[in-house]
Amino acid sequence: MQYKYLLHEKDLPTHWYNVLADMGPPPPPVHPATGEPIGPEMLAPIFPQSLIQQEVSTERWIAIPDEVREVYKLWRPTPLYRAHRLERALDTPARIYYKYEGVSPAGSHKPNTAVAQAYYNKAEGVRRLTTETGAGQWGSALAMACAFFGLELKVYMVKVSYHQKPYRRVLMETWGAQVVPSPSPDTQAGRRVLEQDPDSPGSLGIAISEAVEDAATRDDTKYSLGSVLNHVLLHQTVMGLEALRQMELAGDYPDVVIGCVGGGSNYAGLSLPFVGERLTQGKRTRFVAVEPEACPSLTRGQYTYDFGDTAETTPLLKMHTLGHTFIPPSIHAGGLRYHGMAPIISKLVEDGVMEARAYHQTKVFEAAVQFARAEGIVPAPESAHAVRAAIDEALAAREAGERRIILFNLSGHGFLDLGAYDQYLSGKLEDYAYPEEKVREALASLPRVGP
Ligand SMILES: *Cc1c(COP(=O)(O)O)cnc(C)c1O
Repeated sequence: MQYKYLLHEKDLPTHWYNVLADMGPPPPPVHPATGEPIGPEMLAPIFPQSLIQQEVSTERWIAIPDEVREVYKLWRPTPLYRAHRLERALDTPARIYYKYEGVSPAGSHKPNTAVAQAYYNKAEGVRRLTTETGAGQWGSALAMACAFFGLELKVYMVKVSYHQKPYRRVLMETWGAQVVPSPSPDTQAGRRVLEQDPDSPGSLGIAISEAVEDAATRDDTKYSLGSVLNHVLLHQTVMGLEALRQMELAGDYPDVVIGCVGGGSNYAGLSLPFVGERLTQGKRTRFVAVEPEACPSLTRGQYTYDFGDTAETTPLLKMHTLGHTFIPPSIHAGGLRYHGMAPIISKLVEDGVMEARAYHQTKVFEAAVQFARAEGIVPAPESAHAVRAAIDEALAAREAGERRIILFNLSGHGFLDLGAYDQYLSGKLEDYAYPEEKVREALASLPRVGP
């Protein structure tokens, strides 16, 4: 019985796939003051030229530099598994496949773009990068990438996570990054918050403002973002391109492709090559994006222009948003607590190509534990949202007596999230009601576009 579909090193994709060649492009980012589309010059102080070009490119295929492919080869191509044991446990005629990104040294899909971003910055003479991190998944991926390319990295880590989740900080420091709790006294943005509230627990929004200010005020430094933007989604398509080949090896084609969404990058990375085939070859594949009920941007947000950060420093992006001032409840899937969504994913949902679904965290952990007991791998709490949806699709297939082919992304492992499993197993995990009141408040602060 085949359960693992492996590709050879020589089968590692040579190009990333750019879906903007095949879909109607999302509305452009605009300047908050004028409502006019922003030019590349607005991004130049914080991003290198090559990444700005990728951000607006409509070329279908973009070559992966040899130096990036060399690093990818440390853990890529990643395996695609058929979940025979889970299928048996569910007694379903469905076939469940999953792409496993937990085999990267940082334990998630995030190095796929971290390595590319570090490479392009280094190639343009940048000496130092800054970024923000919440629980530390993105910071650790970028720390590893910077170590490979000899770049300095300063990570502004949300203060409450810095103190509560020391392991990822240690991981970042092991790879050579400097990590400070945010708000920090090192930037104007940080000092302003500390003056008003010395005990501020921090937020991703504040940390972004600090990292952007640091990069914008130094010639040798640029800023790096781990999700949402077009170039990030582009780099992640290496997963979906591998999965296309691997599904072919398995002799199946997915009826439904599933992934969890925070900013949308891991799901885009797996799904966009399949979306391309639906758009250009008339395939009927369904696409399901899964989010937490506590931070339901796609299922309950508005599709409108909003800031990417709480401090209102970014251009406005057209996306599904809960409002940039929305602070989501502190669920365990830290990587899914973002108020907005990648504009590409938002557009595909708006166009009816993708559907979205939200779950409460106890249902998510129930699925994660069932998966771990059947397949062995302990999923990251973020990835467990995709597991939940895959199991529900398989159960629906059983009801319908249908041999549905399911593919989902297992975006990372949960070894640094065992505290969350401990809470679930001891019955202490709580669900948060959908914060309708709070979302309404936050939506009231949406920017008015234009002069
Ligand atoms: C960060 C993270 C996510 C969410 O980010 P996306 O950009 O939506 O992919 C999902 N899974 C894991 C394991 C993560 O670390």
